[in-house]
Formats: sequence, C-alpha cells, structure tokens
Amino acid sequence: MNNDQETSLSTLPTRQTEVVIVGAGLAGLNAARTLARTGVDVLVLEARERVGGRTYSRPASDGTILDLGGQWIGPTQDRLAALAAEVGATTFPTYNEGKNVEFYKGERLVYEGAIPMGDPLATMETIEALLELNLMAQEVPLEAPWTASRAAEWDGQTVETWMRAHIESEHARHLLTLGVESVFSVEPRDLSLLHFLFYIHSGGNLNQLLSVAGGAQERRFHQGAQYISERVAAELGERVILQAPVHMISQDEQGVRVASDTLLVRAKRAIIAIPPTLAGRLRYRPALPAYRDQLTQRVPMGTVIKVQCLYPRPFWRDEGYSGQITCDEGAVRITFDNSPASGTPGVLMGFIEGEEGRVWGRRTREERQAEVIACFVRYFGEQAAHPSEYVEQNWAEEEYSRGCYAGFMAPGVWTSYGEALSQPIGVLHWAGTETATVWNGYMDGALQSGERAAAEVLQALLPLR
Ligand SMILES: Cc1cc2nc3c(=O)[nH]c(=O)nc-3n(C[C@H](O)[C@H](O)[C@H](O)COP(=O)(O)OP(=O)(O)OC[C@H]3O[C@@H](n4cnc5c(N)ncnc54)[C@H](O)[C@@H]3O)c2cc1C
Repeated sequence: MNNDQETSLSTLPTRQTEVVIVGAGLAGLNAARTLARTGVDVLVLEARERVGGRTYSRPASDGTILDLGGQWIGPTQDRLAALAAEVGATTFPTYNEGKNVEFYKGERLVYEGAIPMGDPLATMETIEALLELNLMAQEVPLEAPWTASRAAEWDGQTVETWMRAHIESEHARHLLTLGVESVFSVEPRDLSLLHFLFYIHSGGNLNQLLSVAGGAQERRFHQGAQYISERVAAELGERVILQAPVHMISQDEQGVRVASDTLLVRAKRAIIAIPPTLAGRLRYRPALPAYRDQLTQRVPMGTVIKVQCLYPRPFWRDEGYSGQITCDEGAVRITFDNSPASGTPGVLMGFIEGEEGRVWGRRTREERQAEVIACFVRYFGEQAAHPSEYVEQNWAEEEYSRGCYAGFMAPGVWTSYGEALSQPIGVLHWAGTETATVWNGYMDGALQSGERAAAEVLQALLPLR
C-alpha cells in the first residue's frame, strides 16, 4: 500500500472485531449468524442499502410482494427450509395446474407434464439425454469435481459440443438448450460439460433442477424470499453495516484490515461472501497468489432479466392453462404463473436469459416492455396486452451482482483452478453460493457455503480464544 492510500484509510472510522464478513447475502448472513451464536464477535459489511443480495422482494403498486431475484424452494433444500421455518417464512405451491404450451418453429403444441410429447424422436432423445447426463453427473465428486475420472474429457468440452455429438434431433437440442438457459442463464456453448454435470449432481439430478412439482421450482415464500435475509439481519442487529462497499483487504501477522467506503474494520479473520468475479475486483495486500486471481478472472456470471406483468386476475387459468410456456424465439422463452397464493392479482413472470439477456439488456426499458408484452400476447392472447404494471430487474446491471443466477465455469476452469474456489488464503475465507457443494448456485447452497466458512473460521480461532 502506498502512503496516499494509507492516509486515506487512516481518515476512516475504525472498528475492531473478531471476524469481518464481506456481503450480507444469504451466505454472509448465515456465516455471521453461525459465528455470533457461538459467541464470536462479527461485523458484516454490505455494499447495498439492503440485505439479501440476489434475493430482492418489492411490493408492486397494489402491495403484492414480487420477488425480483431468487424465489423458489424445493425438496432437499433442507438448510433453506429450516432457516425459513425458524424465521417464520411460510411457503405455498407454485401454480402448476393444467396445460403447458410449447411454441416451436411456428407450431403451437399443448401438453401436460415436464416434456412436450408432440415429436416422438425429440421426446425420446430428450429423455435419453436426461438419463445419460444424470448418470454421468453421479460420477462427479461434489467436493472436488476436477478429480472425476473423466474430468479432463468433460472439462475439455462445452454442453453445446456434447449435444451436437449425442443428440440428433434439432428439436431435442432446442429443449435441452432451454433447460440450460433456464438453469444457468447462459448458452450451452458457454458452459463446461464438467460444470454442468457437477451442478446437476449438486442439486440431485436434472429432473429436480428442471421440475416444478418435486423439483427446484416447487414452492414460493408468501413474504418473498428476501424476508429470510431481513429476519437474520434483524437478529444480527448493529453487526450488519449497510452502504459499506468494500474495496481493499490487507492481511499481515496482526490479522486483517478490510476497508469499505465508510469504515475500516480490523479483525482476526475475514469471510468474503460475494461471487468470485466481484471478489476478484477487490484490491488485496499482499496481492493474492496467481492461482486465486486467475480463478476469479474465469468465473463469469450468467445474464438474466426477470420480467413480471400484473393483471386483475390470472385469466389464463380460466381456460385451463398453467401459465408455463416454452418458445424458440422472442426475448422471453419461458414463463410461469407468479400470482400470489390468493390468486389475485394475476402475475405472469418470464425470464430473458443468456443470449437474449445480452441483446435485450442493451435496449431501453420501453423497448423491453413492448417486446415482453408482445411475447405474452402471443402466448396467452389479447388479454395479456394491457398489464396494470410491468416490473423488470436486470441483474447484469446491478453493480454488486453483475449478473445471475450465479457464477459458472467455462471449459478448463474446474480442472486448472478448482481448488482455488474455496481454499482459504492466510486469514481470508471464501463463501457464496458459487463455493457450495450442495445446491450450488441456489439459496440453499449460499447457506451451506456460509456454514462451511464459519466452521473453518471457528476452527482457526479456537486455539486463540
Ligand atoms: C433472477 C434470479 C432468480 C433466482 N432464482 C432462484 C430460485 O428460485 N431459487 C434459488 O434457490 N436461487 C435462485 N437464485 C439464486 C440465488 O438468489 C442465489 O444463489 C443466492 O441468493 C446467492 O446468495 P449469496 O449470499 O451467495 O450471494 P449474494 O446474494 O450475491 O450476496 C452477496 C452480497 O454481497 C454484497 N456485495 C457485493 N460486493 C460487495 C462489496 N464490494 N462490499 C460489500 N458487499 C458487497 C452484495 O450486495 C450482496 O448483498 C436466483 C437468482 C436470481 C438473480
């Protein structure tokens, strides 16, 4: 650090604590809560003026709580379920009754269940691909994906190249592409096959990742998902400091100093609970080893704009439609009925994902709104033409997320840099859903990562206490 930097840091108010945590998303908050409950003194520095990170619940103008970020909870997401129960967050089933519709090459096909059945070759190949990917995924060790016996082969290709080699039907490739876009908000060409398989294993299996009933989209929170973080933050009280973006972290034999725009914190240990790409934008003294810095150069975020239209009633239900469609063109290619448990107002939600997110993110809000409504009219008829409200959240534009749903691995990253993802460096520990072994990329994974980092810190502090 040069003298000027030292001087500017010395003008900041300083606080002393045992453990400083960067980021008040579910990962950072769970780490803080775990440590605080064992009597460890913690401070959480959060850049935004709110907690919850990639969960963000806002009232629409009629007061309906809308989740603009993460929203669903499904079976086996046990950490999230337990924490939700503890803080009093209650759930209701995602609306999943009636007919789904597939739009493909200008045709409209009504179907029920998870996979459109109109094209026998596509259906057969899709099911075969799901089964094969599930089997391959079970071979990826969750703690160390790079040690899979076929890691080099799988990390040397993208999901796109695997699909081209293994799936003949263009329609089946399209269905799997939609699956990749909806789970990762990236394109199959972006994604390492090894990462895809790791992620499938981490969430159980591909059916679980893609399904509503019995899967990751099964239930929603009445209060909105952000409520969980708000309750945990309330428990932590003044230990959570908002509007304190961290920009520099230095460590020496005395411990760690974490400098935010508003506060300098000295501590024995730090947990950095932000996505790897954001962690790579902080300044470290001494500079981090190349293997860690190069990892953070290689874990980009997906691209998603979440859009929601409000209507007086969920009119699509009248004719027996579930509100779920898939499509092969337009900005929104996947939709859900996101109405509250009461069913009023009707809320149609869609994702603009992957390449569409990149293209439409550069347009104006008005252009996106017009396109989204045009998509909804095509899918649900003229009644969709005049929503009472249009709400969107473009996660790549968010300075303290820079994309969603999560960071992902392109080919070669797991095998060259996997260990650097969560291995502590000196007194620095890494958390965040990207470091999770179970439900990586999800809220549940964020909680697991916070717990793991807290356990590392406790173990390190024990001899000093
Ligand atoms: C549109 C969308 C839909 C999703 N759907 C689901 C879903 O249905 N189910 C599910 O389980 N998951 C879903 N997810 C993913 C889920 O929201 C995330 O996995 C989870 O919230 C990540 O938590 P985290 O604590 O790891 O990271 P984050 O939530 O990103 O928390 C990091 C925190 O660090 C802060 N921060 C960043 N930089 C700094 C800095 N320099 N200094 C201080 N603070 C900083 C951020 O403001 C943020 O609060 C979705 C995400 C999005 C965006």
